[in-house]
Amino acid sequence: MTAAFVLGINMVIAGIFAIAFGVVAATNRSARGALWMASGYATGIVDVALEFLLRIQSNPTPVGIGIFLTFLLALTLCLIGVARHYDVAPPWKAIAAIWVLSLLAVPLLFAMPVTSVLRRALYQLPYIATQLLFGFVVLRSGRRQALDLLLIGLAVLSALLYAVKPLIAWTVGAASTPQAYMASTYAAISQSIGAVTLVALALVLLLVMMRDTTAEMLVRSETDSLSGLLNRRGFDRHAERRIERALRTGAPAVLIAADLDHFKAINDGYGHAAGDGVIAHFADVLRHAVAEGAVVSRLGGEEFAVLLAGADLAEGRRQAEAARRAFRAASFAGLGIDGTISASFGVAQAMAGDTLFDLSRRADAALYRAKAGGRNRVCVALGELPPTPTPMGVRKLSG
Ligand code: GH3
Ligand code: MG
Ligand code: MG
Repeated sequence: MTAAFVLGINMVIAGIFAIAFGVVAATNRSARGALWMASGYATGIVDVALEFLLRIQSNPTPVGIGIFLTFLLALTLCLIGVARHYDVAPPWKAIAAIWVLSLLAVPLLFAMPVTSVLRRALYQLPYIATQLLFGFVVLRSGRRQALDLLLIGLAVLSALLYAVKPLIAWTVGAASTPQAYMASTYAAISQSIGAVTLVALALVLLLVMMRDTTAEMLVRSETDSLSGLLNRRGFDRHAERRIERALRTGAPAVLIAADLDHFKAINDGYGHAAGDGVIAHFADVLRHAVAEGAVVSRLGGEEFAVLLAGADLAEGRRQAEAARRAFRAASFAGLGIDGTISASFGVAQAMAGDTLFDLSRRADAALYRAKAGGRNRVCVALGELPPTPTPMGVRKLSG
């Protein structure tokens, strides 16, 4: 009776999570794997239904085999779901091996007496292996945040719980016939283990999906869709953090402001779509010209900004110059634009007490001078001219 009660709860739990994962899959397309999880938990409902059916069978073997394989199917579907979510190829070879061995073991397994400890141990083996694969898949994804580690821990723990099931059966004594299974204490314990692991794994996985969805939404809200660079919101958040850290640790940081020259004329002469193509190309040039790890952004329109942490004014000027030269040399024949296009740059270095706003203002002033000076050039902020080596080898800032 107790086992039937737990079994009923398991059925409801499996149903609730099948719906929960189904809703996640339907409302969020980036939640890969949710549909697999939903089908895994839905298969779990079938498994429990078969357990109820087992009680009234005169020949328990066919339904018994059904239960054995249905639960393996449910775990396999969940395993594929976890792999899909973590963007890892499902361990197909291991899955195939587990299934082939399980199917081959069926005649042997169901010919053994129900009370045999060896039978019970063999029975749990595919479940233990599949749950260990859960942990293996998460491990292989390389993700190591708290929830990922928790999931690995849970996978190993539930594999262990399945491993001690035969021991529990041996200790508390189990039913001598499959039909009497439901009335046994062992069945109640075994089903409770199932319930606990079922709930824990599903909850942690739902949290993982929620975490990843939120992170993805944040990235999307901070990305400019035309250029693929950070937008102003993303730039502000990342650049402020870098400036603050640089000033705190005494490392230099520079801001490069860039603006395409006579861009309005390009739009007017070749159309808005061609203009968009030029913006996207400039974004590529900028991305490749500046150091790896730089915060590169399209602030809006044809205005861009780059924050270089760890670089001084001379280095910032060198990288801006590299971008200027590469853009100037680019051909836009593919966009139907003949001739060359240029961009102007302003560079400023962060000083003690600077905020992103202060630094931007100085970089913008330098950019303005580049425009006023004839465009297609790099200007550094006034009063921040590059350091000049002294005979003593001591470097100091002039101006
Ligand atoms: P300057 O050399 O002084 O910078 O001249 P400019 O023509 O580049 O400057 P201005 O600020 O007058 O013109 C910017 C133009 O950029 C005006 C606007 O129509 C265009 N623009 C803004 N956003 C976009 C966009 O997303 N796509 C395209 N194609 N054009 C844009
Ligand atoms: Mg412009
Ligand atoms: Mg502009």
